[in-house]
Amino acid sequence: MKMVDLRSDTITRPTPEMRRAMADAEVGDDVFGEDPTVNRLESMAAQLLGKEAALFVSSGTMGNLVSLLTQCGRGDEVILGDQSHIFFYEQGGMAALGGIHPRTVANQPDGTMLPEDIEYAVRSDNIHFPRSRLIALENTHNRCNGYPLDPSYLRTVKALATQYRLKIHMDGARIFHAAAALDVPARELVAMVDSVTFCLSKGLCAPVGSVVCGSADFIGEARRTRKVLGGGMRQAGVLAAAGIVALERMIGRLADDHQNARKLAEGLAVFDDLSIDLERVRTNIVFINIARTDVTPVELAQKLKLQGVQLLPTGPRQLRAVTNYHVAEADIHYTLEAFGKALR
Ligand SMILES: *Cc1c(COP(=O)(O)O)cnc(C)c1O
Repeated sequence: MKMVDLRSDTITRPTPEMRRAMADAEVGDDVFGEDPTVNRLESMAAQLLGKEAALFVSSGTMGNLVSLLTQCGRGDEVILGDQSHIFFYEQGGMAALGGIHPRTVANQPDGTMLPEDIEYAVRSDNIHFPRSRLIALENTHNRCNGYPLDPSYLRTVKALATQYRLKIHMDGARIFHAAAALDVPARELVAMVDSVTFCLSKGLCAPVGSVVCGSADFIGEARRTRKVLGGGMRQAGVLAAAGIVALERMIGRLADDHQNARKLAEGLAVFDDLSIDLERVRTNIVFINIARTDVTPVELAQKLKLQGVQLLPTGPRQLRAVTNYHVAEADIHYTLEAFGKALR
């Protein structure tokens, strides 16, 4: 039977070229700074994003946590979206491990927080209040339709941050998807932020790893934070080698995933039983809302799975599909047929 796995782009497996690079990787002790492959990945990533330095970490969650713990102290406050991955899916790590206070602001369907809402959330100097320290953005925005934040919005947030002397962190797990969708270099999307994390292990197909980028001073401190969290890895070059192939070979093809997501969304929008916010499908994430009440997302996902198509139930009336390297255009047609049968 055909298998089409649309649950997430985290399911992507390393390419044959990655496996060869992993087997051949030159390695050393990265805690001593002696792994040449990790060092190469870090300098490539820094250059690609136009930052002074970079740090290889085990996951996006660790990258965000390392960044926030490095930028903020106990009792400091972070302004972030109420739908953000950091707030929703990271166990409240900033509070649990760092004593950092999250201040949520409503995310709009396009992943932005309204500038006036951000401004309203900034604390004044008052003995009752925590100190506002940082604004956290997410690009593309996972729970907000995978929507990309564009340079003009980012400049607006930067102006606010400058006015109120706040730092900005960007959770750029899918920053290269944003760059592809907006047709701007990724470095333009991170020029206004103090720190940024991106994932090698999602659409870019590496088996493990994320990278944090920022100034040399920030990365020096972040390296200490990574160590205290137990994230100092030794011969990590075997992992970084796949990351290098990810940066060299996999960024250029992300637009194919976006086209497939678009085709899937347009094909599904034809079904009366489904509703899709087509305007908002810009990258590789499609949210599918079920208009019917006699079938739950879990039941629909089960029916589709019997035909080899896997999606993720993400809400009481919602499923999510994420296109990725292993999903070809023919798989989109197959998925649309499978929906037809499952809804019949
Ligand atoms: C996946 C994801 C993360 C976390 O990455 P992990 O490697 O799964 O820890 C962080 N932010 C966003 C927006 C993500 O989609």
